[in-house]
Amino acid sequence: MPSLPIYFDYQATTPIDKRVLEAMMPYLTTHFGNPHSVEHAFGWQAGAAIEVARKQIAQLIGADTSEIIFTSGATESNNLALKGMAYAAYPQKNHIITVVSEHECVLACARSLEDAGFKVTYLSVDHDGLIDLEALENAIHDKTSLVSVMAVNNEIGVIQNLEKIGEICRKKQVTFHTDAAQAVGKIALDVSAFNIDALSISSHKIYGPKGIGALYLKKDTPIIALFDGGGQENGLRSGTLSPALCVGMGTACAVAQKDRLQDNIHIDKLSQYLLNEIISKLGCAHLNGSLDHRFLGNLNFTFKGIKSDLLVANLKDVALSTGAACSSASAKSSYVLSALGLTKQEIASSLRIGIGRMTTQEEVTFGADYIIKTVKNLT
Ligand SMILES: *Cc1c(COP(=O)(O)O)cnc(C)c1O
Repeated sequence: MPSLPIYFDYQATTPIDKRVLEAMMPYLTTHFGNPHSVEHAFGWQAGAAIEVARKQIAQLIGADTSEIIFTSGATESNNLALKGMAYAAYPQKNHIITVVSEHECVLACARSLEDAGFKVTYLSVDHDGLIDLEALENAIHDKTSLVSVMAVNNEIGVIQNLEKIGEICRKKQVTFHTDAAQAVGKIALDVSAFNIDALSISSHKIYGPKGIGALYLKKDTPIIALFDGGGQENGLRSGTLSPALCVGMGTACAVAQKDRLQDNIHIDKLSQYLLNEIISKLGCAHLNGSLDHRFLGNLNFTFKGIKSDLLVANLKDVALSTGAACSSASAKSSYVLSALGLTKQEIASSLRIGIGRMTTQEEVTFGADYIIKTVKNLT
């Protein structure tokens, strides 16, 4: 019997890997220097650790160390990318393109840019959750500065075709940003091969600490800072960095680079088991989003005829969610599932099961039985 409740919400956040915590500890205790103090050893030690972390992050995505900007998380990285790059191109270019199924923070940036006078095109997605590449190409015109398309969707796990999107953006000479919070360490990412100019990362989605993230920004990409201050991070993100958090994120990236393939074999096996059990034993269950273009650790199901809030209330022994953590907080219905063409009832009957590095076969066996039994009891 696994210890309860079982954690099935790896898209909301992940536990800190032991190796990450160990690497962080000295920087929370003896190595407490300000990394920006350049006159003594305490500062040098902290500053050097941050540069190691920066390199670990850069290596995971095929970037150069100088192209990594530390931020507080993917929300800040997305804000810096979208607003910073849109404003840098303004007023010569006043148009950006994004997608209806982006994370709330990207859509909120886009709306804020609209309020400031920018034009935004919101690309739709098909029933699988994927954008139409021709529609993207047609939406780009001579006033377009930026295309922002997420890599892996946080609600349904669908993977967009980054390589093709990058090709189109390069051909049309527009900047390509991707919110890769759910993709880094999970799918192969190479910023040069995919022609990515900017990429957002969140540490706490990849077994690192919360409160830190990064923006990869290709050398010489026009951008303006959102914060004024001491000029840290090449003037793009003022404020004292936390060496412990930076080291934690860097270590999480190094571990991901080393373990990604092994993690994915593990996650695919457990997810496939859960998927097969649920689909074969529950006639009312349907998987949302493309099966082929998907990170399998994210399974979003509709259980036709069953209210998911009632289902979640009856599933006390498993921690899972009906959608994005942020939209659950505001109790809004999922706009991502709505974009796939699901009805209001279907959306209200959907939930997400997230599987990750620390999930065990025992947990998945118990979880599948438990979910199936509970759904059957509610039918
Ligand atoms: C979690 C998440 C974010 C926000 O990241 P934070 O580091 O928590 O700010 C942004 N985009 C996606 C796709 C996410 O999954």
